[in-house]
Amino acid sequence: MEESFAVKDFIEKKTPRRAVIIGGGYIGLEMADALVQLGLEVTLLEFASEVLTTLDPDFGRLIHAELAARGVTVKTGAEVQEIALNQTDLCVRTASGLTVTADMVLVAAGARPTTELARTAGICLGAGNAVQVERTMATNVADIWAAGDGVQTWHRILKRYVYMPLGTTAHKQGRVAGENMLGGMREFQGSLGTQVVKVFGLVAARTGLREKEAAAAGFDPFTISLTTWDHKVYYPGAEELHLMITGDHNSGRLLGAQIVGRYKTEVSKRIDILAAALFHGMRVEDLSDLDLAYTPPLSSPWDPVQMVAMQWCVAVKNRRA
Ligand SMILES: Cc1cc2nc3c(=O)[nH]c(=O)nc-3n(C[C@H](O)[C@H](O)[C@H](O)COP(=O)(O)OP(=O)(O)OC[C@H]3O[C@@H](n4cnc5c(N)ncnc54)[C@H](O)[C@@H]3O)c2cc1C
Repeated sequence: MEESFAVKDFIEKKTPRRAVIIGGGYIGLEMADALVQLGLEVTLLEFASEVLTTLDPDFGRLIHAELAARGVTVKTGAEVQEIALNQTDLCVRTASGLTVTADMVLVAAGARPTTELARTAGICLGAGNAVQVERTMATNVADIWAAGDGVQTWHRILKRYVYMPLGTTAHKQGRVAGENMLGGMREFQGSLGTQVVKVFGLVAARTGLREKEAAAAGFDPFTISLTTWDHKVYYPGAEELHLMITGDHNSGRLLGAQIVGRYKTEVSKRIDILAAALFHGMRVEDLSDLDLAYTPPLSSPWDPVQMVAMQWCVAVKNRRA
């Protein structure tokens, strides 16, 4: 919070005109949105070939287009090497020789846990150099529990620990740790990496594994995408919704999903349906049986998450035939 107050204070007092944001992850994108709203010219520099690398590049491109439409200059494949001060200007230089001049630079290039204090106290470190914890959130040192951004997280599908700092996870881990510190016996049930972000007029969300992550974990993933309407098209205001679903070809088990749509097209609710299905190890086919709410202004008798699931099943059958 201190850093966000400092940024706000800087903008109010120094009235910068041009900003560079380093990193096109969800925090960089949210900051681009906020700074444009405040009237700044924003350039976003992203190392990868597309923004929001937590999504498939095809869906990242939709976010890229939204940023561009709102006046953000987006440079992908931009590896920042130097920020130099030239009188009052900040000059941000990339490996390819691009130089962008700005009045302020925001670095949102990912997070790493600061675990020196824990390490010197004899606490073992695990995934991502974060504090090693059991699923009870106990560390290897008696009477010390840990939770949140500084600790490793049990991944429910991968069945191993990863480093994936998220607010939702921090809350659940903190609750487990607190209960066990008071003599409880609870275990953290695992994260699916469910996340959602609003970027200007778009919302992007994901849960579970992407195809390449699933393949790396030993699954036999098959992915399809579908663009459909968020609600019955005869009812005014229907918007396109882009859905992608990954399932295991052998077992039919749902492995992951991504959704991009306009704000207020229930992207978050829909990814949560898929997250709940994933949490309980459901098969893609089983999604069609879910009794989901329907009214024309909000959905269809087959909700878009069921439509994409049905398409997945048909495509798998065709592949096998
Ligand atoms: C801009 C931004 C947007 C985010 N948006 C989302 C989102 O939409 N959804 C989501 O799930 N997650 C989001 N996150 C991630 C989420 O905020 C974190 O995962 C979550 O806050 C972690 O909780 P925590 O308690 O581990 O750490 P924090 O919330 O960081 O709390 C740690 C606290 O400990 C204090 N502290 C640190 N060192 C010491 C010390 N030595 N002594 C005493 N106190 C200390 C800090 O000042 C801080 O108050 C976002 C993060 C950022 C930065």
